[in-house]
Amino acid sequence: MSLFTHLECSIPCGAPALDPHGRHFLCPCGAPLLARYDLDKATAWSRETLRGRVPNMWRYRELMPLFDGEEPITLGEGFTPLVHARALGATIGLDRLYIKDESLNPTNSFKARGQAAAITRAKYIGATTIALPTAGNAGNAAAAYSAAARLACEVFIPKDAKRPFIDECRLYGANVTLVDGLITDAGRLAAEKGAPLGWYDVSTLKEPYRIEGKKTMGYELAEQMNWTLPDWIVYPTGGGTGMVGMWKAFDEMERIGWLPRGKRPKMVSVQAEQCAPIVRAFQRGEERAQPWEGAKTIADGLRVPRAIGDFLILRAVRESCGTAIAVSDRSMIDGMLAIGKCQGISAAPEGGAAWVAIQRLTAEGSIKPHESVVLFNTGGALKYLDVISS
Ligand SMILES: *Cc1c(COP(=O)(O)O)cnc(C)c1O
Repeated sequence: MSLFTHLECSIPCGAPALDPHGRHFLCPCGAPLLARYDLDKATAWSRETLRGRVPNMWRYRELMPLFDGEEPITLGEGFTPLVHARALGATIGLDRLYIKDESLNPTNSFKARGQAAAITRAKYIGATTIALPTAGNAGNAAAAYSAAARLACEVFIPKDAKRPFIDECRLYGANVTLVDGLITDAGRLAAEKGAPLGWYDVSTLKEPYRIEGKKTMGYELAEQMNWTLPDWIVYPTGGGTGMVGMWKAFDEMERIGWLPRGKRPKMVSVQAEQCAPIVRAFQRGEERAQPWEGAKTIADGLRVPRAIGDFLILRAVRESCGTAIAVSDRSMIDGMLAIGKCQGISAAPEGGAAWVAIQRLTAEGSIKPHESVVLFNTGGALKYLDVISS
């Protein structure tokens, strides 16, 4: 039974609730919209019902943006392994280090979760063409789910993006436009071209459903840890959908009685030294992040100079008593190699960055040896292998 009721401003600014059967992108005030559910009714939903459900992210469908009778567009995304990384943890004295291995999603990254949810809604709302700017992974996922949904897909990607990302968009039949600039420039172009043509824009947080896909990482973590949460979650942050989504998931699970209140993990936002708007705003005590000038990093998913949900990321980090850390590109590569060598796991530079942050927090005594830590390996190494050889 669907409990999806309405869309609401994430601030909230006080604007009236929106009917989710319509096409909505941002709140009229410019902030992202969030999907809301009848959580009072959801208290009758038992965790026991999950047993025997298909192991993908739609096992939480009661609190997903699906109406009765709708089936998701799915390629089997989600329910990725939570690996006890004993050998990697042992190198710094951590017994309870876990890697949530998102590289095993369709198209090799957790972007699959967000796009599966966004494109499922787009399909039912009657969209015919999906459009987005991307640094790589989001475009690959959007192209694959558009193909699965039998929708056209227009991808706008910086022309200096890595070759495998560009080619994989074409593999799934998307139309690719190479843009001379950053992802923010690609976004401007996609919006300009798409608005008169009625393209459905699935840019990060500009539509309300990618975050619903990514929040399932929070549900899975709780289920896989037997309805507890770790002491720390270390998350490489670009647009912040995963961070914001998991924080929302914890809130929902507390409200429906699946998790005890007040026992949330400390959330650590990891960024690249040469593109760290969230880290800078966190350190300065600011509520919004100033756009980063001259963003540059090998971690394409982190090359986001301005995040539209910046205040939501900062809110989650601060409410959790977490922190924000910037790491160098060089150290990310060492991180990828350490994860690969110790655990046999294929990590993108973003996953490597999370490991560097964990090492630093442990060395400075913030993470204690007995604490449980979850490293989010948000994508696999395959599309970035040039950074290893160069
Ligand atoms: C997009 C991306 C990120 C950043 O994700 P957000 O949830 O938008 O912050 C991190 N890692 C990889 C591999 C990505 O593709």
